[in-house]
Amino acid sequence: MIIKMRTRQNNLADELRDFARQHGIDKIGWFRSTKFPLYLQSIEARKEYSRIKYRSLEKFRQVAVVSEQFRAVVVVAVDYRIGDDYPEEGLKIANYCRSCWQTLGPKAEAVIAFLQNKGIKAEPLDLPARASACMAGLGFIGKNTMFYADGIGSYVGIMTIGIDADLEEASQGTERVCHRGCVNCSKCIDACPTRAINDKGYAINPLKCISMFNRHADEPEAKLPDPPETLDGWLLGCEKCQEVCPMNRCLRNKKNKKVVITPELNVYGMKIPNVAEIPAQVVRGKISSIQSPEDRKYVEKERKDMENHCRAIADCAADCPGNTGGDFEQAGAGGRCSGFRYGLCSHKSRNGQICVRRTDARERCPGLVLHPGG
Ligand code: SF4
Ligand code: SF4
Repeated sequence: MIIKMRTRQNNLADELRDFARQHGIDKIGWFRSTKFPLYLQSIEARKEYSRIKYRSLEKFRQVAVVSEQFRAVVVVAVDYRIGDDYPEEGLKIANYCRSCWQTLGPKAEAVIAFLQNKGIKAEPLDLPARASACMAGLGFIGKNTMFYADGIGSYVGIMTIGIDADLEEASQGTERVCHRGCVNCSKCIDACPTRAINDKGYAINPLKCISMFNRHADEPEAKLPDPPETLDGWLLGCEKCQEVCPMNRCLRNKKNKKVVITPELNVYGMKIPNVAEIPAQVVRGKISSIQSPEDRKYVEKERKDMENHCRAIADCAADCPGNTGGDFEQAGAGGRCSGFRYGLCSHKSRNGQICVRRTDARERCPGLVLHPGG
């Protein structure tokens, strides 16, 4: 009886690996453990987590518990990187925001459907993703706190799926794996524009991280860095600490991965030819055409965040040292120009300070584009 059971588990494990290979899933693994002690320890130790609004401290704690109805957690990791060939004066939208969703979502859903077709209960779980990927033995955490998938690097989307079946060869991995590549390196710590990464690494102050700031504009304590150029031109997300990482460079070279320059951006499921040219009503139309109500809700929320950015510009405009009239008044009075906020405009005012007088900078700003009245 025992032999029969082991065979079934083994078959499922083999089938899952085959399925992943056939469907372009870069990494798949699983683990049995239901506790994340190191994750919880780090959440409790970092007081900033109690001040974050978009997710309560209680919720951060709750996600570290796997319901008893699931016997194993399957972790899927997919390389979503498009490239980092941003135009010199242009906006930067992180690979994560441009392509993680679209790349990872359908593949993870395919795994869920595959398991369900076998009569296995399979559901996406909201677990600490990077810790789960480590526990499934897929890679390690770098000093920048990013998860590095073995042989791929840190530009990977992670999905965790709870199943009510046992799987052979469940990993005994740990939550945090300190990789030898980081031992004599501090490039990510030194390159972070806002010094958000702890001096020794492996911890970030989320309230200083640009990615947090520009994706959750309404966080009461996430303040615009001073000076605003510190934002390094990032409109959505930030990948500076991954761009400079030798582990990413080496892996990319080794793989000889061709950098794909897409003629269109894929922003929150909306394929748009040029983010600077799309009118607001087209964006609204595209949101309403998204089939899944959940996806639509998420995109709508992100669009609202973008609006909040734009509203906040009115405050920035009042403080702007380059507020000397002309085009700036036109931009600032409407409270819609994001150039100042994002440090995108490199033009100087008469007193040599950054200002947003140049209209073409305003016109290129997605903050304007995505504003409902834009
Ligand atoms: S930049 Fe250096 S220290 Fe930071 S994650 Fe990469 S290898 Fe580790
Ligand atoms: S994402 Fe950007 S701001 Fe955040 S830690 Fe990395 S480099 Fe710093």
